[in-house]
Parts: sequence; C-alpha cells; structure tokens
Amino acid sequence: MAAFDVVVLGGGTAGVHVATEVAGGGKTVALVEAGLIGGESAYLACLPSNSLLLSAGRGESWEDAVARRAEVTGGLDDSAAAQRLSRAGVQVIRGTGRITAPGTVEVTRAQDAPVPAAAGGTASRASSTTTLTYSDLVIATGCEPVAPPIEGLSDIPAWTTAQSLSSPDLPRRLIVLGGGPAGCELTQMYASFGSQVTLVEAEPRLLPGEPAFAGEILAVALRRAGADIRLGSRATKAERTADGLTLALEDGTRIDAARLLLASGRRPRLGGLGLDVLGLEVTPGMALPTTTRCEVAGTGGQGVRVWAAGDVTGTTHTHASRYQADVVAANILGRHREADYSAIPRCVFTTPSVFAVGAIPGGAGVTTGAGDGDDPGADHGPGNGGRTRRMLRIARPPSAEAAAEAAAAEGTAEASPVAQGGSGPRLVTARARLGDTARGYLGQDDLGRLELYADAGTGVLAGAVAVGPDAASWMSEVTLAIRARIPVAVLADVVHAFPTYGEALQTALRELAGTGDSPARADQQEKRTGTLSELDIETPEDDAIEQRQEVIADEAVASPRREVPFDVNEADAAEQERAVGFDDDDYR
Ligand SMILES: Cc1cc2nc3c(=O)[nH]c(=O)nc-3n(C[C@H](O)[C@H](O)[C@H](O)COP(=O)(O)OP(=O)(O)OC[C@H]3O[C@@H](n4cnc5c(N)ncnc54)[C@H](O)[C@@H]3O)c2cc1C
Repeated sequence: MAAFDVVVLGGGTAGVHVATEVAGGGKTVALVEAGLIGGESAYLACLPSNSLLLSAGRGESWEDAVARRAEVTGGLDDSAAAQRLSRAGVQVIRGTGRITAPGTVEVTRAQDAPVPAAAGGTASRASSTTTLTYSDLVIATGCEPVAPPIEGLSDIPAWTTAQSLSSPDLPRRLIVLGGGPAGCELTQMYASFGSQVTLVEAEPRLLPGEPAFAGEILAVALRRAGADIRLGSRATKAERTADGLTLALEDGTRIDAARLLLASGRRPRLGGLGLDVLGLEVTPGMALPTTTRCEVAGTGGQGVRVWAAGDVTGTTHTHASRYQADVVAANILGRHREADYSAIPRCVFTTPSVFAVGAIPGGAGVTTGAGDGDDPGADHGPGNGGRTRRMLRIARPPSAEAAAEAAAAEGTAEASPVAQGGSGPRLVTARARLGDTARGYLGQDDLGRLELYADAGTGVLAGAVAVGPDAASWMSEVTLAIRARIPVAVLADVVHAFPTYGEALQTALRELAGTGDSPARADQQEKRTGTLSELDIETPEDDAIEQRQEVIADEAVASPRREVPFDVNEADAAEQERAVGFDDDDYR
C-alpha cells in the first residue's frame, strides 16, 4: 500500500498536465498509465495526423512522410515523457488502475513494470498489483473508438485511427468510415499520398456537428483531392475478399478496398474503472458529469474528492484537456477556479481547414460556465450540461439555420444578416467570403467562407465558423472576443492588416454592427460567383454551394445599409454592450 495526496488515473494530455502541476504545488502524486505516457495526442492522434498532413502539403513522398512522423512521435518511445514526470516529482506507475473503495485505487501492473518506490519496492515481479490511497483522485482516462454495427466487421482488415496513424502501410484502396474531423483529415491525407479513398458518411453531409456550409466546402475540397465522398450512405455489411474487403451500403452499392478505416465515433473510456464504488452509474457512451470546477458530480460526502479532465468529460480536443487539467490542478491546490466553455475552439486541419468556436445556430451551443461551483449535483460540464453527451456523433435536431437555408434555396431568403430562432440565445448571422478579400484574390482562393453568430440579446459574439487556409490562426481573435465578451461594436472598429483573411472577418463584423458596405460587396460577390461557376466539378454538393452563393449575392444586393445603432468611437465598451440591443426586426 502506498499513500499519495493525489492519484491520477490516465497519463495522457490531461493526466500528465494535472500531475505535473500539483506535484509542482507540493503534493505527493502518483500517475497511473496503462499505455504510453503522453496519451493519444502525442503518439497516435494530433501529432502524427498533423505531421502527415503537413508532409502531404509539402509534396513529400509517403516514405519521407512516415519517417518524419516517426521523428515527431519519438518512435512511440515514451521514456523521455516518463523521465520528465519523474523529474517533476511525479511517481509514474505503469499499469491499469481501478477504484476499489473511496480513497483507494488498485493498479494491475504491466509486466516487468517496477514497483513504485513509495510502495517500498523496486523488484518488478514480486506481485502484479499495487494498492494506492489518495485524498484527491483525478480521472483522465480519455476516450476509445466504438465499432459501428456492421455485419462481418470483425472478419475484415480494419484500422482504428490510432492503428492507421502508426502504420507504415499506404493502402492502394481505402474506405474511411465517418465524415467527422478525423475522417475528413485522414481522407485528405491518404488521398494526397495517392490512395484511392472512398469516404462513407451516414449523415447527408460532412462535419454533421457544424453548420452545413463547412461540410459542403470540405466535400468539394476532398473530391478535388481525388476522394470519392458518399454522403447519406450507411454501411451495413462487410466481407473479406482476396484483395481485402467489400463494404455493402444500404442502397445496395458495394465498395472494394484493401482496408477499412474506422473514424465513425468514440466514447469516454469509463469501463472497468470501478466508478460504481463511488456511487456513479455510467452507461456506455456517457461522459463523466462534472461541475464547472471539474469535480465529478455526485461524488461528494465520501471524505475524498474526485475530479475529471479531458475526453472522459466529453471534450474532444487536446487544448480542452489541458484547460480542464489547469482547472483541476488549481482547485486541488486550493485556488478556486471554474472552467468557462464558451469559447473552446474546434478545428479540422484539412486544406482548407475548418475552425469553429462557441455556439452555432440550431446547435447545442456552449454556455458560459457561470459558476455553480460547489454544487456537486450540478452538471455544467463541457457538453452544455449533457450528462449523457455522446462524443463526436451527436444527433442534432433539424436546426433553425437549416430551415432558413431551405427557404433561401426556394428563393425566400431574408436579407443578411439573419436572426435565427431555436433554444438558447437568439443568434444573428453575418457571412463573408474569403474570395472577396485581396488575400483570397491573390491566392486564387474561392473555397473559403466564414459565418459569425452574435447574441441578439447582448450584442456580443456567441460563435463563429470559418473555412479557409489556416483558419485557426486568423480566427483566434474571435475566440478572445467570445471569451472576453467584447461588444461587436468594438470588434467592428478593429483594424485588420491588408492583405489578410482578417479582412473577411472585418466585413462580417461590420455587417453585424450595422456598418457594412453592402453594394461594394455585391459587386465582388457577382465576380466571385462567376469564378466559382468555372469550377470543373459537378456534384450535388457543388450545386448546393453555388445556390447558396447566389443567395448570398442576392442578399447582399438586397441588404439595405443599416443605421449605425451606436457610436463606436465615443462609447466605451461597457456602454456599448448595454446599448447594442440587437433587435431581430432590424434585419428583416
Ligand atoms: C485521429 C485523431 C486526431 C486528433 N487530432 C486532434 C488535433 O489535431 N487537435 C486536438 O486538439 N485534438 C485532436 N484529437 C483529440 C485529442 O487527441 C484528444 O482530445 C486528447 O488526446 C485527449 O487527451 P486525454 O488526456 O483526455 O486522453 P488520452 O490522451 O487518451 O489519455 C488517456 C490515457 O489514459 C490511459 N488509461 C485509460 N484507462 C486507464 C486505466 N484504467 N488505468 C491507467 N491508464 C488508463 C490510456 O492508456 C491513455 O494513455 C484527435 C483525436 C483523434 C482520434
């Protein structure tokens, strides 16, 4: 038995960060890791994936790209990461942890793993389990892929994303199942290196969790890269063949490939952790419910504190894991801190890339985590309070935006910006196209676009989605604006450098603030629509995009120049926030 102030279960991004911080704050800490110290992001997800995408962009050969990936991921050797933790004062214990009582974790050690010094031993084979006690437990066990219900799946050559990102093989023909962020990135990456890729997505569009335009533009880009994109297609049956496999879709189509890559869903890794001992009932797919302090809801009154950080709480990004880890560490060290989920970026690192942050029309949105703090029963976690939030694949009701777009397609569109209904804050949308900026013109970029969503009640930005080259870089000011609740009026007065994509942001902000210059935009829109019609791609998605672009052009022509509702130069920020008073009717 070894006693620690803090036991961290899981040594990925979140676990390593919490452990290092609390050890630095003077706590005794044990970190239990069943696999690689550093977790998915460093070895099997973000870094290898982005490394390969960048290699593809530089035109490297597959062999060179794999060599670079091996360099970036340290050849899947985590000894340097383990040493860093040891130097920080963290006791690293390799094995699988399970909670056996409030205050106690039992670790089944990996073969040949040393017994922790605090347990009084160094001989590795003395016993296969170690018991640890704690005052604070941090659950940071990440998430795991979920196999879709496809008959015959276990008999065919299939990859998880982690397997694909650590394999030296470049399949000649590959099926990617799932059109979420990982599916899109891997489709583009393999297609760029010469694989014949078919992406199969059950929903009618890519990136189903984001506004339709993002997935539509991405579908065009992936098709340009040579991929075959099958939307609204559900896979039903897989069979092994001499060359690999055949996948049958519900419409009767059969696709042959050497391999199937599963990128169709993940769920928090909670099985076998012994959470019932803490009085928690979890069902597969459920995220750990947390308070804004990242304490696991419903675990109070047991004489110990239980915290959670990372994908296990329903977040799906490395930066979110690190953010929650900071919050957990601060609270363990006695510095009250609450997480605010209003502006956590969501990125897809394709070309063009997709950047989204905050609430979207008709979406679950992301509320500001205004403090519930000490109420252990409350659930103000990252998924908008969703105790049963599923990862990545969230069934979304038809959005108000979709209805507005359907109306637009029928020629009944309202002038932009458009106010949308639905639950949560009422959002006003402004749009801009990167092709209308000098940067877009110079780069001959006709695929980029952005939408900004302002809260009609408060006049501050609630969310944004952009598609374009390196969108995360030039959209990060929106993240700040949402988090700091900077009034749209102030943002519209910010000067953006010429020639940059930031100028598209400026156009949309000015439109939201009622200072946009619509006639000039209309001229440019007309020009860009002409350019787009020259694209040599004929797909239903292209038609949809073209229709939407014409609608935007019409809107821009029809949009009357609005009265400036407030004086940007004279009012201070607080005054403006009070005075903006977005009114739905202003935009009709
Ligand atoms: C293909 C792909 C690409 C991605 N790209 C990006 C990107 O570009 N940017 C981005 O921000 N995010 C990206 N992500 C998401 C990102 O990888 C995750 O959000 C991040 O790794 C989560 O960190 P974590 O600490 O919560 O979990 P993990 O890193 O998964 O760590 C959890 C650790 O817990 C260990 N563990 C589990 N159970 C036990 C147990 N019982 N005992 C001991 N140890 C245990 C596991 O072995 C694991 O190492 C990507 C994900 C995928 C799948």
